[in-house]
Amino acid sequence: MSEKTKEQTRLFTRMVAEKQGWKLNPDPAFYEDLVEGLMNNYNRYGYFLCPCRDSDGSRGADKNSICPCLWSRQDIQEYGNCFCALYISQSLAASGKQPSSIPDRRYEM
Ligand code: SF4
Repeated sequence: MSEKTKEQTRLFTRMVAEKQGWKLNPDPAFYEDLVEGLMNNYNRYGYFLCPCRDSDGSRGADKNSICPCLWSRQDIQEYGNCFCALYISQSLAASGKQPSSIPDRRYEM
């Protein structure tokens, strides 16, 4: 498995945002922290585990938490940002408002 660089990880986030019609978090330092977390998770686990969540021990157990996670669409639609606030909605971006802290749906049934 080849390791990911920060630039490769940034590219990944840009591709996800473009494909989904989302925007990236506009705060450069916050964004870079999340990129670093994603990159570290990739280089540790072999997949882009969400940078705001812990691994449940295997790729299979983590499958829903691989970025973009299972809950991201719903969260961005409902709150304007994903759990990490790496991705935000077009309308939140246009409003200039800050992303908010939102509940984690991971263990909701
Ligand atoms: S919360 Fe955001 S950064 Fe984390 S996996 Fe979901 S979409 Fe990716």
